[in-house]
Order: sequence, then structure tokens, then C-alpha cells
Amino acid sequence: MTRSAKIKRRIFLKKRLGFASRRLFALVAAALIAAAAINMREPRKEGLQDAEDILLSDASAFRMSYDYFKELKSLAEKNDLDFPELLAAYSLHFGFFQTSAEEPSTAGMEELCAQILSEYKENEDLKPYEEMFRTLLSEMKTFPVPLSQSEGSGESPCEYEDTWGSARAYAGARAHEGTDIMDKNNDRGRLQVVSITDGEVLEFGWYELGGYHVGVKTENDTYYYYAHLDSFAPGMEKGIKVKAGQLLGFMGDSGYGREGTKGKFPVHLHVGICPDAAFAKEEFWINPYLFMRNLEDSMAPS
Ligand SMILES: [Zn+2]
Repeated sequence: MTRSAKIKRRIFLKKRLGFASRRLFALVAAALIAAAAINMREPRKEGLQDAEDILLSDASAFRMSYDYFKELKSLAEKNDLDFPELLAAYSLHFGFFQTSAEEPSTAGMEELCAQILSEYKENEDLKPYEEMFRTLLSEMKTFPVPLSQSEGSGESPCEYEDTWGSARAYAGARAHEGTDIMDKNNDRGRLQVVSITDGEVLEFGWYELGGYHVGVKTENDTYYYYAHLDSFAPGMEKGIKVKAGQLLGFMGDSGYGREGTKGKFPVHLHVGICPDAAFAKEEFWINPYLFMRNLEDSMAPS
């Protein structure tokens, strides 16, 4: 399939995912979560994983503490290493799955990273993971909620946590596949939502689950999904080109019902990221949390 056909298929799947298939998906998701819970109790395989052994659900959850992410980034800068390569090597060494209890102390980090990188360089099968990180880190330019909207307090107007995989109950049990950026004031229509990347508006409108949403596709065929908006930016149209930082709409609480439904949950922006991942045969969403923290840090006045 060509890249654009793949993107079209994603959108098709998203639209046609009926109630019955959502139920089936929920059952599968519940089974995966149960399997992950069992995995948490088992010691993980040590050392670099084989490409076939990597669970896509673990790669999706892309989980490490943000302190660790920052540590890797500064280590890469300090030693003139390629950050996407280091991030991929490190993630694959731990099978993409790490609780804070499993994180090695940052003291021995430099040697550990040198060792991990040398293992990694010998396994060509793992390069698609590196390419995914390289693409995502280079195309994401702007935190989706401008931080200057804090009404003079200097504090961020929003807050968010890593809620990847947590339970969602509307329309059948589901696992959360995104990051929810909450308006601290819970005031619909207050905060601007801007595009994280350059790209093209692939579609916008109403979904029962996502409410008023905008989908932006980048030139690398990553799909960014901005959901639960209160309203759209003036001039919003399918096919228009957008720049990173360009207004897409206003944060809201739309969704979970027929068109126009609002107020079923607190005001927030749901960000979803679906990279064109060469290692995944199926639609693959990745946890946006660490990317959002990274973007927010790079935007904050120092
Ligand atoms: Zn969400």
C-alpha cells in the first residue's frame, strides 16, 4: 500500500469502527492490558530485544520517566550522540517497557548507554524504531496549547499526566490512546489549540467519541488528532495547509454523543499521534506524553 493509501485506510477504519467492532476491540484491549499486567510481575528479558520480540503494545506505551528522557537527551548532546538513535537503542534495550523502579540509576548511565548503543548498531532490524523517533522529534515543533494564555500568573494554563492505557468506559470499555491536556479553569472555548506540526488538514468535523476534532497529516504521513474542541479556527477547511503554531480551534468538552454534545467530561484537548511506523503492520498509535513534556519544556521561557 502506498503511504497515502495507508493514511486513507486509517481514516476509513476510524470512521467505520462500528459499535460491534469497538466491543471486540475493547475485549482485545482488555486482554492486552491483562497480559501487560502479568508481564509486570515477570522479570523482563535483559539486553537488546529482537525485533520479533517487541510487543507493539509496549512500543505504543513508550514509557519511561520524563527525568530519564531528559537525561538521555543531555547525554546525547554532551557526547555528540544522535538522540533518536540513543532513544531507540535505550527503549529497545528495555523492551520499551520500564517502570520507575526498573530505571537504572543515572550515575552509571554513560557506560550503560555506550554498551546499549554498541549492541544496537549491529541490529539493522531495529532501525525503523529509530526512524520513527527521528521523524517525530523533528516534525513536532509547537506545544498544542500556547503557554502565554495564563492571564498574567506566569503559570501554565493547562496540566496533564501520562494516562496512556487507562480505562475509558463510553461506548464499551476502551484503553486511552492519547494525552489529555486539561484546562486548569475548566472553561470551554477559553484556550487556543494550535498545530504541533506543519501539515495538511486531512479532515475535521464531528465524531461521536472525539467530538469536534481536527486531523492533521504531516509530510512524513504522521497523523495528529486533536479532539473535543469547542469550536474550529475561522477558515478551517479540509485540505488546507497549516504551519506549526497555527490556530486549529479552541479547547472544549465536545463528544460522547450526537453532534453538538458538550459537557460530558472536563474541558480538555485529547492529542493522538499515529506515526507511519514501518515496523507496525496495523494502525499504530504512540503515547504522546513524553513528546508533549519535551515540547512544553522547549517552549517555556528560560
Ligand atoms: Zn483523551
